[in-house]
Amino acid sequence: MIKPDKPANEALRLEALYRYRILDSERERSFDDLVVIAKAVCGTSMAAVTLIDVERQWFKSIQGIDATENLRSESMCGHAILQPQEVMVVEDALQDVRFHDNPVVVGDPHIRFYAGAPLISSDGLPLGTLCVFDVRPQHLERAKAEALSALSRQVMLVMELRRFALDIQKHMLERDDYERLLSEYHDVLLAQNADLAEQSRTDALTGLPNRRAMAVALEESVADADGQPRRVCVALLDIDHFKNINDFHGHATGDRVLAELGALLRAHFAGGGTAARYGGEEFVAVMPDTDLHAAGVQCEFLRMAVGNLPLGFPVTVSIGVAMHRAGDSVDQTLARADAALYRAKGNGRNRVEFAD
Ligand code: GH3
Ligand code: MG
Ligand code: MG
Repeated sequence: MIKPDKPANEALRLEALYRYRILDSERERSFDDLVVIAKAVCGTSMAAVTLIDVERQWFKSIQGIDATENLRSESMCGHAILQPQEVMVVEDALQDVRFHDNPVVVGDPHIRFYAGAPLISSDGLPLGTLCVFDVRPQHLERAKAEALSALSRQVMLVMELRRFALDIQKHMLERDDYERLLSEYHDVLLAQNADLAEQSRTDALTGLPNRRAMAVALEESVADADGQPRRVCVALLDIDHFKNINDFHGHATGDRVLAELGALLRAHFAGGGTAARYGGEEFVAVMPDTDLHAAGVQCEFLRMAVGNLPLGFPVTVSIGVAMHRAGDSVDQTLARADAALYRAKGNGRNRVEFAD
């Protein structure tokens, strides 16, 4: 027996296959129908749609025999995908040096005849086959081979449609989430006092107030004009793995990310509160007259908005948020937010954590 080689583009091939999110999915009528037609057209007792995973072939649909998967090393389809442009025909497996002692030939299901038309992804990669097989040797007429090949393209079409449907479903769910947060955020904004006070000392790269200006704003926000304590929350945002962004895309791109994040924060806090550059790739947000829940909603919104920035590569932030306690110094509040941020990093990044 000769085990099938792995094609030269194996890694790309698997990547393409996984994009369809089809392995180990439920049976689907549209695939079963095409397999029934292939089996009838070629006059065989068995047929299948099979996908070639790392070490197995998995059947999306199979007729005439009960099976869900088989070893790739013992599969005939593993050979068929090596010549993606052709229908591979084995008229009598016992006469074929590759298969004569293969367990599926000498044992169950005793395959003698096999024909497999490769399933080719939109980017030209072979993912598996539409195949027909039988316990009796057989000749496959040219017209039948062409029909099998045509049906294999229909299988691919169903796979593409299936993937579009999955993508659209995912997109709709994300959109619902985003819109829900947007409307919650809107409510938070309405409930806040608008504070449009100009900031004097700004950071040149982001246009945000700098750390010292922020410290003044924070001191002012913890008490009102009469010296009465106000409810205020503080959030520290730190870009995840920013060093990698600098390393992979260059320092100038790193600066652009900081500027974009600065613009997002400025827009977000235009209606109230203050965002400032705290240093390096860290930002601080001061949210007056905001309780911890409302601050959490805002931070969650910001975290998602950063994830959606059109930068061309993914950027995420971790956020620690703390509510200022009457009697504490602002430095103590910042330290508690920092401890929460540290926990957000430790818990996997791209998340919001609260100081207790
Ligand atoms: P993590 O936050 O997930 O712990 O990892 P990190 O890679 O983001 O954190 P780290 O503190 O290791 O690296 C921060 C980097 O930010 C290092 C520094 O070179 C870079 N950085 C700081 N200020 C600037 C700046 O103004 N522009 C650019 N491009 N990079 C900056
Ligand atoms: Mg940092
Ligand atoms: Mg960082």
